[in-house]
Amino acid sequence: MRLNNRIALITGAARGIGRAIAEHYAREGARVAVADLNLDAAEEVVQEIKRQGGEAMALAMDVTSERAVNDGFAAVVSQWGGLDIAVANAGIQHIDPIDRLAYEDWFRVIDVHLNGAFLVTRAALQQMYGNGGGAMIFMGSVHSMEASPLKSPYVAAKHGLLGLCRSVAKEGAAQGVRSNIICPGFVRTPLVDKQIPEQSKALGISEEAVIRDVMLKHTVDGEFTTLEDVSEIAVHLAAFPSAAMTGQSIVVSHGWHMQ
Ligand code: NAD
Repeated sequence: MRLNNRIALITGAARGIGRAIAEHYAREGARVAVADLNLDAAEEVVQEIKRQGGEAMALAMDVTSERAVNDGFAAVVSQWGGLDIAVANAGIQHIDPIDRLAYEDWFRVIDVHLNGAFLVTRAALQQMYGNGGGAMIFMGSVHSMEASPLKSPYVAAKHGLLGLCRSVAKEGAAQGVRSNIICPGFVRTPLVDKQIPEQSKALGISEEAVIRDVMLKHTVDGEFTTLEDVSEIAVHLAAFPSAAMTGQSIVVSHGWHMQ
């Protein structure tokens, strides 16, 4: 197992990509803190991990709350004695053209992705520094590299995460912290399922056309990226044995955006 005896905290882990990473980390031997706004759903993930023989705890955490983030990390350290891996994954989407975008919708998306990732990073580094280091992993997107219409706050936040990831790589190196960002293409999760009818309405095209001509248009094979594809990269980045892999962005997208 690639993550034996490691302690990981994953935000937004009650469903979707975060859940897949939590379950994959547990299968690889890590103890996993499942942090989410939705505590009941996080508890269900923990029960499932335990049914499969893993070790996990649920944390109620809104990543935009400084206190909730700090308390969540403190609870992990007090229960398990440290922290080796933190995955800043929690995220939301909002579909609107810029000229009609409400400031509060802009702010909310930036707040969850970018401000939330800062709070999670700071709390993680305070545990990792002086304790042998660790791995920071950010959930970016192909939208960390490219823009699409109607998603300006998401695109701006995901580009911002690249900068945060690289800053952590530079500052954290001396303390044994590696920092990398995963940039998936479209994965069928509730976040994406919600956008399909929204984009269909906003663009005046069918839902099938949104999938084929918008979401998967630039892939090499018209395929969605899977939860397993993304969680495999997350395991690889967490387990990587040296500082050779730091400050990097890994695009996992069926060829949409080749770098
Ligand atoms: P999802 O909507 O299925 O799950 C997101 C989870 O985050 C939910 O459990 C939700 O409760 C939680 N969450 C939302 N706001 C939160 C907050 N303030 N504090 C704590 N938890 C919060 O979404 P997903 O598709 O699994 O996306 C996860 C991450 O992956 C996001 O950062 C997203 O931008 C990124 N991503 C997704 C795709 C995709 O196609 N699904 C592609 C690229 C990147």
